[in-house]
Amino acid sequence: METTHEVDPDGDLLLILRNPSMPLTACVEGHRWSGRLFERDREETIDPVHKQHDSIGSKYNSDLFRNLDPGVNEYSQPPNGPPAEPETVGEEPAPPDSPTEIFGEIRMRLSSRHLILASPYFRKALNGPWAESERIVEAEEWDEAALLITMNIIHGHTRRVPRSVSLETLAKIALITDYYKFHEAIELFTEIWIPKLRKESPSEEFGMNTMFWILVSKVFSHAEVFRSVTAVAQRHSPGRITAPGLPIDEILGEIDQRRQEAVEEVITILHSLLAYLRDERANKCSFTCSSMLFGALTREMASHGLLPRPTALVGFSIEGIANLARSIQTPVWCNDDPYNYYSSERHTCHLSNFIHPLVNGVEMNIRRLELRDD
Ligand SMILES: [Zn+2]
Repeated sequence: METTHEVDPDGDLLLILRNPSMPLTACVEGHRWSGRLFERDREETIDPVHKQHDSIGSKYNSDLFRNLDPGVNEYSQPPNGPPAEPETVGEEPAPPDSPTEIFGEIRMRLSSRHLILASPYFRKALNGPWAESERIVEAEEWDEAALLITMNIIHGHTRRVPRSVSLETLAKIALITDYYKFHEAIELFTEIWIPKLRKESPSEEFGMNTMFWILVSKVFSHAEVFRSVTAVAQRHSPGRITAPGLPIDEILGEIDQRRQEAVEEVITILHSLLAYLRDERANKCSFTCSSMLFGALTREMASHGLLPRPTALVGFSIEGIANLARSIQTPVWCNDDPYNYYSSERHTCHLSNFIHPLVNGVEMNIRRLELRDD
């Protein structure tokens, strides 16, 4: 089927759009993203990021734990909110690649003069000798509605431009803008659309919208949204996100790098604490006490898949691992007073007094991404 949009009925250029309106998708560690879903896959072995162990390990040597007092029961309460489970994760594996279907063709009659004025891309592409006949430009996979909105803006038909669009449509407009370099022409409308969208689809929620916001804020240089949405992705993503065809792969790579650094650091804290409690010099309180703490920590780390040390960091978000570390339990026991049967008191040393301040520090020190010109 064929549709022709007469954006400029007297236009000298025909744009033919093939396979229009292909959906935007994203995957986390090879699993297709649907909403918040992602399948944790322990079998998968990505490049282990153990190269940083030494430098992080030296930061958490036994001196650090010696200076922390396990008896100050400041952190003994369980953390607020639901107990920490590694971010769970859905079950929809990416389907095998299917051959590209032909969804028909959309035609737009446009004016080359408007395109050349608005776009360095078209200025270059249409800068050849001008044939008598109508010029034809071919394009593929752009969203039909997003392309029509964009072309109406470029051709000055601003009354035909909606005053609000969905976040997904804006992401598709951003893709078109990025490709043809329409930034200047579209900018004014983004100032109308983006504030409305921030209320409807907050950039603080992690999901497919996170992808759209990263794309939109990067293409339209919105530093504040970029900063907040990349921080959300860093904190909640359980693995490397890929978004085929979207010009944000480098950013997604940096987000994952910082996720891995922070997850690695939390795991290092727990392993360093384990090594400290195993050391006989750690008997700051008593042999019984450090043995109990050592035993409890060993069991907790093993039950959460942290002992032996995991070789791949897939499936651990920063928030997930931090909550998991803070949820590690300490057994309750009482000191026996051999002279007074009734006076035995509850022992106050607690693993959380070692773990909480350090893990909270890791979370506070996560490096934020900033928008930069490139
Ligand atoms: Zn103790």
